[in-house]
Amino acid sequence: MKAIVVGGGIGGLSAALALQRRGVEVQVFERADGPNTGGAALSLWPNALRALDVLGLGEAVRRHAALGGDSGIRRADGHWLARTQLGPAIVARFGDPLVLIARRRLTELLLAALPADAVAFGQSVTDVVVGSRSSPATITANATRVEADLVVAADGVGSVLRSGLFPAAPGPRYAGYTAWRMTVPAPGAPESFETWGPHGRRFAVLPLGDGRCYCYATAHNLADRRLDDERDELLRLFGSWHRPIPELLATLAEGAVLRNDISELPPLPALHRGRVALLGDAGHAMSPELGQGACLAIEDAVVLAALVDPTDPVDTPTDLERYTRSRLARTTMIGRRSRRAGALHNHSTLIRHTAARAMNRVPARLIARGLRPVLDWRPPPPGGAEPR
Ligand SMILES: Cc1cc2nc3c(=O)[nH]c(=O)nc-3n(C[C@H](O)[C@H](O)[C@H](O)COP(=O)(O)OP(=O)(O)OC[C@H]3O[C@@H](n4cnc5c(N)ncnc54)[C@H](O)[C@@H]3O)c2cc1C
Repeated sequence: MKAIVVGGGIGGLSAALALQRRGVEVQVFERADGPNTGGAALSLWPNALRALDVLGLGEAVRRHAALGGDSGIRRADGHWLARTQLGPAIVARFGDPLVLIARRRLTELLLAALPADAVAFGQSVTDVVVGSRSSPATITANATRVEADLVVAADGVGSVLRSGLFPAAPGPRYAGYTAWRMTVPAPGAPESFETWGPHGRRFAVLPLGDGRCYCYATAHNLADRRLDDERDELLRLFGSWHRPIPELLATLAEGAVLRNDISELPPLPALHRGRVALLGDAGHAMSPELGQGACLAIEDAVVLAALVDPTDPVDTPTDLERYTRSRLARTTMIGRRSRRAGALHNHSTLIRHTAARAMNRVPARLIARGLRPVLDWRPPPPGGAEPR
């Protein structure tokens, strides 16, 4: 069985590794000239760690920083609105921590587990023919046509392949806010916190356990505003907030800030057509409120590889129907939860701070229990039953 994966992000590389471990011959086509080394950090939750176990990378990832001890929500003047021991409660409930890992490190681990020539860089895919039981799928990359039994479209939120598969489906829409991400040196290991300021603004600090911390910030309705240097924007929005936020911003090097106007994809009618499967953000891009986008892309990869039968490529279109049945409801449910979580920040500061104080009264074990539909996921056995 021969598969082509379009896109060498976390989703595409995970899919290539999962398929290769099932004995499928895989080639990744990535339009960039080399691996993506940016992207600051990622939170990987217990569901993703279980999927990474299937890829043989679970233990290597678990070695990275885990959310432990106190974390909480603060006001812009530094006053704590809520403090919780969510990290330990997640371990107690799900048997695994919430891991924070540099995105670059995860990419390196995935690439190192693949054959050296698995990814063809500088290959932009412009077109796909979905194929059927009796005909292969075909992609066009750099004006050359290539056939495969299976094509995995992992080309991100702006997926060209998705538009080809579902031309009538609405594309991604702006979620109403912008996010910035950065990794900065943080001597003295600050605590983990998210600060909620006026106008829906947020700034979070999460130690990476190696003398650096991962920070993200959000602000509403700035999609039309572009600056040459996003550091200036961050200083304008957050420079007068409590310590250590201004000190961390002051250490930022030029170009060290990654900015995204957040988009969400309305649910698609299916996650496949013919011999083409949509995976990761290409199929279900969502707001990052729950930190699940990459986790779900890794889950997708493991489920897809479990459901295809490498010895019977004729049946791949039927296997992909099972893939849609396994993944569409779950990814739609998590996208909806993520949108709901973000909606709180459309309200006034008074309402948001009241909500944070209310959270302070909820025991961490109950917060962890509320995450069960998202985190209590298990991979299917190879070729076996569809996952719950
Ligand atoms: C602010 C923010 C914070 C986030 N935090 C988290 C988090 O903590 N935890 C988490 O799990 N998720 C998080 N996410 C979500 C996560 O980043 C994404 O869900 C994940 O990276 C999607 O991976 P992907 O491989 O599907 O897509 P991408 O990472 O977008 O990769 C797509 C790849 O396809 C390539 N490509 C595109 N078009 C073509 C083409 N035509 N031909 C060939 N190649 C092509 C691109 O160059 C790219 O390499 C966050 C997102 C944001 C914006």
